Amino acid sequence: MKREYFRDKCGVFGIYNNNESANLTYLGLHALQHRGQESAGIVSAENDKFYSHVAMGQVIDIFTEERISKLLGNMAIGHVRYSTTGDSHLLNAQPFLVNYFRGKLAIAHNGNLVNYEMLKNRLEEEGSIFQTTMDSEVIVHLIAKSQHSDIVARIKEALFLVEGAFSILIMTENKIIGARDPFGFRPLNIGILNDSYVLASETCAFDLIGAKYVREVKPAEIVILDRNGISYDTIPSINRKNSFCVFEHIYFARPDSILFNKTVYSFRKRLGHLLAQEEPVEADIVVPVPDSGVAASIGYSEFSGIPYETALIRNHYVGRTFIEPKQSIRHFGVKLKLNAIKEVLEGKRVVLVDDSIVRGTTSRKIVKMVKEAGAKEVHMRISSPTTNYPCFYGIDTPTRSELIASSHTIEEIKRYITADSLAYLSLESLKKALSSDHSDYCYACFNGDYPIKFPWMDTRLNDTMFK
Ligand code: AMP
Repeated sequence: MKREYFRDKCGVFGIYNNNESANLTYLGLHALQHRGQESAGIVSAENDKFYSHVAMGQVIDIFTEERISKLLGNMAIGHVRYSTTGDSHLLNAQPFLVNYFRGKLAIAHNGNLVNYEMLKNRLEEEGSIFQTTMDSEVIVHLIAKSQHSDIVARIKEALFLVEGAFSILIMTENKIIGARDPFGFRPLNIGILNDSYVLASETCAFDLIGAKYVREVKPAEIVILDRNGISYDTIPSINRKNSFCVFEHIYFARPDSILFNKTVYSFRKRLGHLLAQEEPVEADIVVPVPDSGVAASIGYSEFSGIPYETALIRNHYVGRTFIEPKQSIRHFGVKLKLNAIKEVLEGKRVVLVDDSIVRGTTSRKIVKMVKEAGAKEVHMRISSPTTNYPCFYGIDTPTRSELIASSHTIEEIKRYITADSLAYLSLESLKKALSSDHSDYCYACFNGDYPIKFPWMDTRLNDTMFK
């Protein structure tokens, strides 16, 4: 289940050479909505003119037919955002559109740059004026300052200087340029729809518009879409190591997406198999925490032979703020989103499966809800290892001190969430599920092994105010 206090990441989508580019970008963003619900935007272009609409809220509410019809041109890029850096307001919404002395640029970025502060300070000392608090803005300034005349060379230089996670789309007057950082933290994929090339964070966006999935953009690869079709370049880089985000597979991506060459749903189910093998328990039913625990629960049930039951029903239509009744209702927040089916749970020994425990607060409420509905025992099973370390590469995790597993034993967490037993999948099993390419992944949130270190990292790790 998605927690309210946890901020999500972003999704990007771009299409070149299609006279319905804005409409298809709107659909693509809709398919990527799970990657960010704070703001959304589309920028399209035609004959050197850019058309933009960016607003706070969700794709379906922001874009009316009339608004889309004003986004002219045969190319467009779009973005859904839930901030990981920068404040949450319209100025920080993307795509970010700028005019500079060589023309116009629109930029849509997913990921976190770890040397943002350093570059920003340097650029400001040299006279740059920043309009936002988004890390992506440094890329724009670096592109503008580059001495190269060719736009791809300018972008290459800028992307060589930034460090961290980026899957990025940049639109100029006549090109869309996509790039993935040399470590490949965040996903980015290439699709094709008749004569149009498409780039998207997740393949589920291709399915919705009927595009064919071609392949992933490789780490450090630059993809150029222009009137010559598709061409490729590379970001010059040193010390790069594939570091695909394993948490995309565990939690973030949509189960129907193909991510880093694996279907997310099957992968999560496999985690459930391994969890059942590693952490068996005598029980009557396996129940998922919807929606995040569904695939792993099915896997757990399949392997253990314990029947799968849907005992928690999710209300998908929960908005942002709710007016609480004067007379307070127990567990109001979680009850708005979930309700337990008493008849299914009464007198049962339940294996409750979720993908992760972060602060433990939601899990505690859900365990209580399941018990109040009559469950005799609740055995919590988590389809990933303990989350001990914050992410600096685009997944918004709380501070280290707020991550319950960083300061509590599994026994203590079990007591806190009031479960009868609690077990997590081991890191070895997670790697086993990834099979031969397990060394291509980043596990920093589990083992603190950060692929890119940066000067103020230790301070950030101990900083209780880091958000
Ligand atoms: P908690 O009980 O507070 O630890 O929350 C656990 C729930 O948060 C699980 O249902 C997870 O699926 C979900 N979750 C894990 N990571 C994130 C994240 N980065 N953003 C939103 N929800 C998350």
